[in-house]
Amino acid sequence: MPTTQPRRSSRTGGERFAVRDPATGETFEDAPDQRPDELDAVVGRAEEAWRGWRADPAARATALLAAADADIAPLLTREQGKPLAESYAEIARTAARLRYFAELAPGPGPQPIMDGRPVRGEIRWRPLGPVAAIVPWNFPLQLASAKFAPALAAGNTVVLKPSPFTPLATRLLVSVVSTALPEDVLTVVTGHEPLGARLASHPGIRHVTFTGSVPTGRAVARGAAASLGRVTLELGGNDAAILLEDVDVERIADRLFWAAFRNCGQVCMAVKRVYAPARLHSDVVEALARRAKTAVVGPGLDPGTQLGPVNNGPQLARVEGYTARAVADGARVVTGGHRLDRPGHFYAPTILADVPPDSPVVTEEQFGPVLPVLPYGSLDEAVEAANDTGFGLGGSVWGTDLDRAGAVADRLECGTAWINHHAELSLAQPFAGIKDSGVGVAGGLWGLYGNLRPFVVHRPEAA
Ligand code: NAD
Repeated sequence: MPTTQPRRSSRTGGERFAVRDPATGETFEDAPDQRPDELDAVVGRAEEAWRGWRADPAARATALLAAADADIAPLLTREQGKPLAESYAEIARTAARLRYFAELAPGPGPQPIMDGRPVRGEIRWRPLGPVAAIVPWNFPLQLASAKFAPALAAGNTVVLKPSPFTPLATRLLVSVVSTALPEDVLTVVTGHEPLGARLASHPGIRHVTFTGSVPTGRAVARGAAASLGRVTLELGGNDAAILLEDVDVERIADRLFWAAFRNCGQVCMAVKRVYAPARLHSDVVEALARRAKTAVVGPGLDPGTQLGPVNNGPQLARVEGYTARAVADGARVVTGGHRLDRPGHFYAPTILADVPPDSPVVTEEQFGPVLPVLPYGSLDEAVEAANDTGFGLGGSVWGTDLDRAGAVADRLECGTAWINHHAELSLAQPFAGIKDSGVGVAGGLWGLYGNLRPFVVHRPEAA
């Protein structure tokens, strides 16, 4: 799902580009429009800085802790659109991640090699070199920190590229963390394509850690193949929520609704399809539609707003397109199904019923405030439908009997499965999509090791 890039600002003569407030559609700031040919110097300086940084484990923890105290929420809401409370929650998660990796900062020490025989050797974990971190616009800070915190903690340097839709909060975060870092250890670059493509394929980059859409992820992997750099890809999702026969619909409806609509549905592991037993289907549709009708939609900076705008124009057009196609395919719009008549990128929270299972709003990733609710006959049918997708990020099962729900969750083909909630992650857990949803493992110690290479020393006990 690659997005059209924001236009260069004529106001600023092509060297900076305009950043829009999605709640008004108006430009409110601009950011440097860096050219791909600047990357040789940026990556060269990151390589130079790495020589000192890799040898200084103590400095890593200090720098990550300094960044954890930055207050950037209003700016994040302004450029991303999310309600202020969600921006504060994103900042809190960012800070928690920085603190978590600060504690891991010295990295795993030497490890003995054990294979049942005496092996006179040990594994020493070494950093890789300059890392390219490329992130999307839905959680700019949280996703940036998920990449640069483990990479820096492991002793690498980082060149970070945010989306051109959300460059500002990231620049501010990096300016804060940089006060505690040696120069060029963490650099942010902003601009239009092919900036990201050139960064991903730069011969000086030893690891590309990318979060974004599947098509861009494929392009990144192709680009990085030129230098055989390591690639970690966290890509899109089309998570299903399966409701079981014994589910208490009213009890779970709030949780289910917000698992689909938080951040205006722009969450890689949002609930993107609901499967309800045929007997309960109309109750589920009704419970979700009631919440969609009463959710407070408005600018993220307004107190009381629960759902902000879609982040950008191309994404809004995509959401509209999925809904229009579903309706043409025979779906019924239970509520929503239209833009709001006001400036900005607002779309009414939408519940769809009677959607054919092969309509793109079911088979692809809508990434917006639109949710199809599908009935199922047998449980096998529901599990098969949930797994019948090229994606494999997450999935959830909802019911009263937790053992039974757990047994169904076991059958989901994805990286993370939840019972009676969705999309909650621990900092210490591995996070890895399967199929088109990703390559490599992020999170916890796995995220740290993803930024390290084993170096093995064998030696005799005596000379
Ligand atoms: P996108 O793929 O269009 O862009 C992501 C980033 O890549 C941006 O910084 C963009 O400027 C850059 N980019 C664009 N073309 C590039 C190229 N050829 N080479 C290198 N970089 C390039 O994605 P988006 O629309 O910004 O974000 C939405 C997508 O991200 C959704 O599919 C969502 O599911 C996914 N996502 C996944 C996760 C996860 O953890 N799995 C988390 C958040 C978002």
